[in-house]
Order: sequence, then C-alpha cells, then structure tokens
Amino acid sequence: MAFDYDLFVIGAGSGGVRAARVAGAYGTRVAIAEEYRVGGTCVIRGCVPKKLLVYGAHFAEDLRDAREFGWDVPKDVAFDWQRLTANVFKEVDRINGAYTNTLESNNVTVIGERATVSGPNEVTLASGRTITAERILIAVGARPHVPDCPGAEHGITSNEAFHLPAVPRRILIAGAGYIANEFAGIFNEFGAEVTLMNRSDMILRGYDEQIRDRLLQISMMKGIQFRFNASFRGIEKLADGTLRVSMSGHPDIDVDCVMFATGRVPNSAGLGLDAVGITLAENGAIPVDEDNRTACPSIYAVGDVTDRVQLTPVAIREGQAFADSVYGNKPTRVDYDCIPSAVFSHPPIAAVGLTEGQAKLKYGTVKVYASDFRAMKNVLAGRNERALYKMVCEAESGRILGIHIIGPDAPEILQAAAVAVKAGLTKADFDATVAIHPTMAEELVLMR
Ligand code: NDP
Repeated sequence: MAFDYDLFVIGAGSGGVRAARVAGAYGTRVAIAEEYRVGGTCVIRGCVPKKLLVYGAHFAEDLRDAREFGWDVPKDVAFDWQRLTANVFKEVDRINGAYTNTLESNNVTVIGERATVSGPNEVTLASGRTITAERILIAVGARPHVPDCPGAEHGITSNEAFHLPAVPRRILIAGAGYIANEFAGIFNEFGAEVTLMNRSDMILRGYDEQIRDRLLQISMMKGIQFRFNASFRGIEKLADGTLRVSMSGHPDIDVDCVMFATGRVPNSAGLGLDAVGITLAENGAIPVDEDNRTACPSIYAVGDVTDRVQLTPVAIREGQAFADSVYGNKPTRVDYDCIPSAVFSHPPIAAVGLTEGQAKLKYGTVKVYASDFRAMKNVLAGRNERALYKMVCEAESGRILGIHIIGPDAPEILQAAAVAVKAGLTKADFDATVAIHPTMAEELVLMR
C-alpha cells in the first residue's frame, strides 16, 4: 500500500522537530502538523522566553551591586516590562523561523493545522483533509494543570505570564516546583509582592533537602512570602479587579494576579487514540516501550506526552533515538540515568544524581562533602547570600552518586561536573584536579 508519507509527526515542539528533521535528513518522506507555532513549549512559552526573563530580572540585583563596584547607578532606575517582553518575543520569532527553516531544508512538509489520529496509518487535519502515513509519531507535549476550584478562571498559567500587560503589583503563585520558583524570582526582582503557596510543606520536591532549604531561606530574605499546607477554597474577583483568594489554613489574600504552576499534564485529550487501541494512563500519558512504540505498532510517541522525564533535552533525545532507530539503521535507546537538571531561581539550583536522602535509602551509609561559601562577587557587593555545593559519594569506593549546588551560575557550572558523575568518577578524581582560581566552580574540587 502506498502512503502519502513515510512519517507523520503530530506536534512541532522539541521532540517532534528533532524526529522530523533527522528522519527527513535520512531521506524519509516526512510531514509535521502544528496547530500553533513551530518550536513548542520550550521555544514559544517555556525555557527560552523564561530564561530571557531571568536574565532581565537579574539586572535588578546587578544594578544594585554595581554601586559597590564603583558605578554610579541612580537609586530610581526604571524598568520597562513592555520593552523586555517585546524583545523576548522578537527572539522567540527568530528561533521559530530557524526551526521552520531547518524542517524545510530537510524536506519536511510543515502543516499549520491540528491533526488527530483517525487510524493506525491515517491522520485527519482540522480542515477535514485526511493524510496517510506508514508511521505516526505523537509529540504533542503537555499543558499546565489548573486545580479545580471556584474562580480558577481568574488565574493565569505560565503560558499567559509572558503576555501580562505589566508586572502585577501583587502576585500569588500556586505550586512550589520549577515554574513557581522561577517565576517567583522573576516577579520579585521586577518589584512585585510575591506570595508562593503550596499544598505540601516543601518546595521543589525531588531536590536535595539542604539545597531546597537554602533556596527557601534566600527567597524569604529577598522578600518572597511562602504559605505551606495550603489549598485553594476559591478565587473571587472584586469590583476593582482585585482577586481575593481564600485557602485552607491561612487568611484570605488580596492580589492582582494568581498564577497556577501546579504541574503539567500530557496533552493527549481528543487525539483519537482510543480508536487505535491506545489506552491512556490515568494522567493522560501515552504509554510507550523503550523504543517509543505505543500499543499500536505503527504509532510512536516522544516527549512530555509520554510523561517520562518532562525536560526539553530528554524529548530531543527521544526524538533523535526514534529517528535513528527507525530510519537511520542505528538502534538507539535513551539512557534515563543521571539526568542533570536546573531550576532558574534566584539564585539558581543545579543537580545531578542522587540526593543525600535518596543515596542513604539506597546505600545505607554514604559520604557527603560540602562547601558552604559566599561568592567573592557577593562579598564585595555586601550581598549576604551563601552558595552551597554538595557531593554525595559511595562510602567505600568514593564513586560520586550526586552533586547538588545552589549559587550564582549553578547550571553553567554543573553541566561539566555532570559529565564526570555520569562517567562514574570518584571524589579522588575531583581532588586530583587542580582548581581554577578564583572561581566558584573550584569548590567542586575543594570540598571537604
Ligand atoms: P512541578 O512538578 O515542578 O511542581 C508542581 C508543584 O505543584 C509542586 O509544588 C506540587 O506540590 C504542586 N502540585 C502538583 N499537583 C498539584 C495539584 N493537583 N494541586 C495543587 N498543587 C499541586 O511542576 P511545574 O508546573 O513547576 O513544572 C512542570 C514541569 O515542567 C516540571 O516538572 C519540569 O519537568 C518542567 N520544567 C522544567 C524547568 C527546568 O528544567 N528549569 C522549568 C519549568 C518547567 P508538591 O510537590 O509539594 O506535592
């Protein structure tokens, strides 16, 4: 049977674009459908614009610190949110264009429409047109989860945060994970009164406890307020536009904006998967095997819609592995062990491997080395903000099980160290490496 295409990809985000482009480069006849904009969450409304806001926000501290370094910076420097976001959108447009060009230069047909699955080898576009393909790859990502509470429609998610007309004077952020802590830092630096509320009594579940505590302490020092063990009762919009939020365990709070950062759920609804024998997990995730294959042999899925590890570089690897295995004659499986990650909070966190708690559970005894210090630049700036580096090692061999850091440039510093952890190096290997002085990163080879 002749199909219209060899491969039809649904969703042009990080995973879908990589798979389509690589398959195209192998000479596969590929089409990709995207209902919004090529680039997906990471490029359009996630990692990229968020990181640019983080850079923008950090100038608030840099400008203050610059005075101690001899610069005459006026006390009332003005910040223009509209100018920043306009420049961010320009950059997003540029990357969106670059992604589209890459697809087209690899002979991928880009279709700007929603597509759903209408058979094991058939998709139907929003316009009603049907297209056949030997294989279908679903890479539709995830969307923000919004808790069910009266007045939830008055809140926004990170999708809308970039499009706010101005920095809200008072903002309540629900959740205490990646997005909540990153946006709490951003809005706090831009002068908003920020309150973060979470259903449990912790921030950043999964990260090392001491590192989390350090972020909590520094965030509070910077003026961010926290409310724990709190769940929404309701959000009421008052006549003047104020949002009055009531929650369990805490008094009502009046704010100008409520932002939900309470996790992201797979975007699988309405894709027509039931009809081809794919049963979704309870949270909507598409179950796949190690080769990204669903229960329907001609249909594959990669990225956040499979809810394995919700990170852009992981989706990209899954897309690459799919294309290499199926079209490049290079069978490849993604290795999910030891994936480094970062939180772009103020200051940022970065980590790889097991936390101290996880390592103790798994190995019983472990050796932990740490360095708790004030970065040189912070000392001169009079900024009382300490960095913390931790290394967790197997007691006998000294093999490094995890490295966890919070402090300026933590993600930039950790990436190289993550190579060493992934390679199975030991504390002794780090000790044998001469420090680069004076840096913060040298603490990695000086921990006691
Ligand atoms: P996270 O999973 O990081 O955090 C979710 C937060 O919301 C937690 O504090 C959690 O509480 C709380 N929560 C979860 N479900 C509910 C619920 N039903 N009602 C109320 N509260 C709830 O999710 P984010 O939304 O911050 O980010 C989504 C994903 O996107 C992340 O998991 C990450 O993989 C990715 N991401 C990565 C970034 C990066 O790499 N820097 C940046 C942004 C996002 P508790 O844990 O206490 O139970």
